[in-house]
Parts: sequence; C-alpha cells; structure tokens
Amino acid sequence: MALVAKVLLPLPLPEAFDYLAPETAELCVGDHVVAPLGPRRVRGVVVELREAVGINRPLRQLEGRVDDPALPRATVAFVEWAARYACEAPGEALALALRGLRAAPPKPERLVAATGTTPARMTPARARVLEAAAGGPMRAAALAQAAGVSAGVVKGLLDEGVLAWVEQPVETGFDPPDPALPGAALNPSQKAAAGVLADMILAGGFQAALLDGVTGSGKTEVYLEAAAAALAADAEAQVLILLPEIALTQQVIARVEARFGAAPAEWHSGVSPPRRRRVWEAVAKGSCRIVVGARSALFLPFRKLRLIVVDEEHDGSFKQEDGFIYHARDLAVARAKLEGAAVVLASATPSLESVWNAETGRYRWLRLSARHGEARLPDIRLVDLRENPPERGRWLSPTLARAMAETYAAGEQSLLFLNRRGYAPLVLCQACGERMTAPDTQSWLVEHRYTNRLVCHLTGWSMPKPERCPHCSAKDSLVSIGPGVERLEEEARHLLPEARIAVFSSDTVQDAEGARELVRRMAEGEIDVMVATQAAAKGHNFPRLTLVGVVDADLGLRGGDLRAAERTYQLLAQATGRAGRADRPGRALIQTYAPEHPVLQALKDQDRDAFLAAEAEQREAAGLPPYGRLAALIVSGPDADVLEAYCRALAAAVPNADGVEVYGPADAPLALVRGRRRKRFLVRADRNVDLQAFLTTWRARARPPGSVRLTIDVDPYSFL
Ligand code: ADP
Repeated sequence: MALVAKVLLPLPLPEAFDYLAPETAELCVGDHVVAPLGPRRVRGVVVELREAVGINRPLRQLEGRVDDPALPRATVAFVEWAARYACEAPGEALALALRGLRAAPPKPERLVAATGTTPARMTPARARVLEAAAGGPMRAAALAQAAGVSAGVVKGLLDEGVLAWVEQPVETGFDPPDPALPGAALNPSQKAAAGVLADMILAGGFQAALLDGVTGSGKTEVYLEAAAAALAADAEAQVLILLPEIALTQQVIARVEARFGAAPAEWHSGVSPPRRRRVWEAVAKGSCRIVVGARSALFLPFRKLRLIVVDEEHDGSFKQEDGFIYHARDLAVARAKLEGAAVVLASATPSLESVWNAETGRYRWLRLSARHGEARLPDIRLVDLRENPPERGRWLSPTLARAMAETYAAGEQSLLFLNRRGYAPLVLCQACGERMTAPDTQSWLVEHRYTNRLVCHLTGWSMPKPERCPHCSAKDSLVSIGPGVERLEEEARHLLPEARIAVFSSDTVQDAEGARELVRRMAEGEIDVMVATQAAAKGHNFPRLTLVGVVDADLGLRGGDLRAAERTYQLLAQATGRAGRADRPGRALIQTYAPEHPVLQALKDQDRDAFLAAEAEQREAAGLPPYGRLAALIVSGPDADVLEAYCRALAAAVPNADGVEVYGPADAPLALVRGRRRKRFLVRADRNVDLQAFLTTWRARARPPGSVRLTIDVDPYSFL
C-alpha cells in the first residue's frame, strides 16, 4: 500500500503538505526528505505517515530521503507546539530546529594506510615509510614527515598499491560524562534540595521545580547533582542546561566538566556552523549527553531528554525578541512536558510567574536561604544622591568614591554597575540645542569613545562623531550628556590612578572567548575595578569582589512598563549579589534619587518576598500576568497612511470573545525604526481564554497589505 507523508518544510507556509512516499524508501516520522515545491526542491521533515486511502487529488512524489539523523518524535511535537504557541508558521519553528544542519556534513578525512603488500623494490626510505605507517592510517603529509621522506616516496608506494587511500569519518562523538565522579559535599539544605530533585527524576515523567536560592547559595552545585541523578539513572539520558548569556556559559561549562570529567557540548550563536552540525548530530544520535547553551538549544533534537535546567530563569534574555518570538523558560517547561522530563528553574530572584507557579503547587519549591559556607549576603545601603551628590560632571558620590578607595587599599575588588553601554547616552549641541538622533530610527545616538563614533543601539547604525553640529554647523559645540560605562571608567581612573580597571560590556567582550578571559582575570584578582553593564552583573563568582556600586538605580524604573519594578529588583539584586561571595564580607552601595521607592526599600532590606507580594497584588488587581495573559500586535510599515488604514481595518476585525480586551492602536514608544513607522495593539485575556486561537482568528480576518508587517508577540516583555 502506498503511503502519504505529511512533510513540514522549514519555510513560512501555513501548514505541512502531503506527498506520496517513494515506494523504495522506508520512511519514518522525523526523516529528512527532499520535496518538490512548485519548481523548487526543498528539504523538509516527515511529520506524519498514513496509508494512501481516500485521496482524491493528485499528490506529488517525494524525491528521496536525506541521510541525516531523523528528528525524534518529541522534537517534531515540540516544533509544532512552539509554532502554535507563538502564532507562527510551523515551518519557522522547524527552521530553528534544523539550524544545526546548515553547514555541510564534515567530509571524511582521506588518510593513507599500508595494504600489507610488499614493495617490488625496497629502499631505506620506503622501509621507514612502512614502519611509520604500521601505527595506523595517517595523512599523507604527516606520514612523509614522520618517515623523513619526500612526498614522492609516499606517492610511489600509493601508485604501487603498497599504500592505499582510506576514508575516515570525522569523529563526531563526545566523551561520556561520568556521574559517579564525586560532586561537592553538599550542605544540609543543598542536600535536601538535591534529594527532592533526584527523587523527581527517578520517578520519571514531567515534573517542574523552582530552585529558589539566594546568590551564592550553591544552586549550581544542586542542579549538577540533579544532572548526575538523571545521567546515572539511564545510560542514554540527556541533560540540557540553558543560560541567558553566552558570557555565563563558560563558567558553567567548566563546572560541568569538573563535575563529570567530560566537557559538555556548547550551543549558542558564537559556535561555528561546522561545530554546530557536530553537536546537532551527536545530540540526535544520543552520543552527546550534556548540552550547555543559550535559548536556541531548546530546539535541538534530543533523543532522550530527561532534565532541563533553566539557570537565572528570571532573565529577560531568555525572551527571543525578533524573528520567531518565544520565551525560552516557558518553552522549556512545555518541552519537558512533551518529553516527560523534569525541568528545574533556578534563580536568586525568580520571576513572579514562577513564584506563583510554585505557590500554587504547579512547581515544587526548593529554597536555599543562606550562602554556602562562611559567605554572608552583602550589607546593602542606599546612597541618597540628593544629600550626597557627586561633583558636577561626575557620577560617583563621595560615599561610593570613598568605599572604592578603601576597597582598593584593602587589596579587594570593586564592581561599578551601570546598565549603559558606551561613553554618553546623549550628545547635544550647546549652540542650538540639537540632539543627535539616528536618521531612520527614533533614538538618541550614543557616544562611544573607544571607537569615536555615535551609535544607534537599536539598529547598530553609526557615524563618526562630527566636528560640527550637523544642524547649525557650530564647531566643537557637541557635548556628551550623562554617563555610560566608558565614562565611568574615566572617572574611576581619575579616582584611583594606580588601579587596574576594566570595562565589561558587549562592546568590550564580543565573544565567548573574550568573556572567558575577562571573567578569568577578574576571578584571579588581575583587575581591581570592573565597570560593567548587565553582561557581568549576573551569575559570576568573583571571590575577591567585596564592593558593588550601583551607579544609577533609578535607570530601569523610568519608563515603567509592566515589569519595570520587577526587572530592576532582579537586576540590582543580582548585581549586588556579586559582592562577598567567598570568605570576605561584601557590601553594596546603591545610588538613587528616590530611596523611598518600594523596589529600593526591598533591596535594602533584602526582603524579596514582601516586594513580590506587593507586585503580585497589583498584577492580580489588573488581571496582568501571571493572573491574566497578554499579547502584543506590532504593526509596521514605511507609509503612515497605509499603516493607519490597516490599523483601522485590524481594529474593526477584532473577534468577539469573552474575557478579552484589546487596546490600541497606539503609536509605539519606538515609533520609527529603520524607516518603518510602528504601531501597537495590546491584548489582555483571562487565563482560561485560548489566546492563540483568538489571535490567529483575528489575524486571518485582516491580512496586512504587502508593505505592512504584522508581528504577534505572545506574552510580551518589551513594550517598545
Ligand atoms: P549560586 O549558583 O547559587 O549562585 P554557586 O553554585 O555558584 O551558587 O555557589 C557559590 C560558590 O560556593 C561557588 O564557588 C561554589 O563552588 C561554592 N559552593 C557552593 N556549594 C558548595 C559546596 N557544597 N561545597 C563546596 N563549595 C560550594
């Protein structure tokens, strides 16, 4: 009986298409196939197979199977689930899952080996070659070198059939991790948490836990024990550890390697395409058992995923904001459900969503309330900038400057935290008041002194800093307003001329290797003062760091979207939590003009629960997440009138539904990006509403004209 294969193509098409399976190939779900699509031939994946009965239209025939490891069924199910969740074409989710296959498979290496034939004429040179070749296949050049002969001698032996070419597949395996190696001796509360996680894993099936422990409490040690339990319970089990930043992966990779005696696979945008293919294949074949990666690792084709750890689960970087929009933490829970695996969300400042899930019993709630060993939580003080202002043109208050000098004198390290890249966030003309903006985007240009350019942080567009104001042509009239990390570095140098100072931001650390090196220098005490954006504020362990100065605590509270307070709390708690992580006590000084703000009071008192409770109350009253659901529609286009007209059509097409409110259209706060005007709608729905069904119905009723783009962002984190 002929078979019909439903094939998903990694393209923005609404659904998978039916094809006739070739008679000769034995197809399975998950197999890679080549399918005709119009005049093209496209690679896709079989998502369903059925007998060809009751087919009353001609189907095109698949052109064959591709010999890559099949996508496991659970991965196929996850791809389909993720697409529905994000209101995206399923092919877009598949494209994410196939990202590792972009590089061609590695070519087998061509080596030469002895065939066992003796040469007709033996010379000393030939004898040396045969002796060297006795060790096994080698590259021809290496063989000639080892024998101390010219390439001609090797070639002669090849021609004669004494040596022959052999093809050796490139090694794709990973060393197996050994869960039996001893881990850290856990303290009693760590042991209790690790025990619960191990029981969860042994029980099997989907389970979720929130590992909620203060900074430095040893969450990593605990989840490594959970990983050990998963690996030990089943020789094929695989573990995925997700991290929000590439910079953090290095430290965790080193800890995984130390714990299990084998390096895990690494997966993020900095990994080369050939290397990605190697990881992808090994994960699909099950020969790679631990992956440490950024959010896109969630789409890898795991064969037997038993545990997913989402470290720093509260972190906004888990949200993928363009292309296929998703939140990796939420998708990790969904994937664990589909795989029947355990998922552990770890954080010192868990999201309100996760705390709520723990409170309502959906997640096990494991708390570690003290730092490990002698380490104590830092002493946190607010510095009221109204009473203790910095000098004009400076940003460090006398109190913070004094503390830095004391710390330096004691041979300890300081970290100055300011979440602003570059030298100055604003450049304006003293003569005419013109503020420098990007030409096609509504954003101030940020001055970068290292490169002497003005940069748009939204699009990356940049220009050299002009000598004259482009508006009034006044010479040398442009002044830099406000501080970025580069400017703070200047101030720190002025304050401590002898100190070794480094800046940690995405401008100074461009790849995983750079991050590893800077983190190592800081950890080993080669830096006295680190000036850092959020790139360095989280996760790292710097034993000699005893002072954290938060330069502008009010920064994140301005603008105030739904999560501004929560995000500020998390960021500052993480940043201040870097201090005093070993035997030396730490302190944190938080500079603010609004010390009475509840976020800052909660930070000072280290009373997270009270803060979260107050936040939760407000969200519940407004029906906002996690008590309700949100989605945003972002509509953009080059022509204001066309955009306006489409927004009106969209507003008129809102489906009738109980428990749903639609707000908008409104100009987006970022009303112009790359020459495209932007408008937004916001949808709020009760939890029991099928929000995705509502959104897809709505979209289908008012398709945008060609020049207009409509993006759906389910559970938005950015409101810009
Ligand atoms: P967290 O992930 O909660 O911030 P870590 O797991 O990074 O904490 O632990 C903080 C520091 O304490 C690390 O240097 C870690 O090696 C150390 N540590 C934690 N628990 C133990 C333990 N049981 N034995 C030895 N060292 C520990």
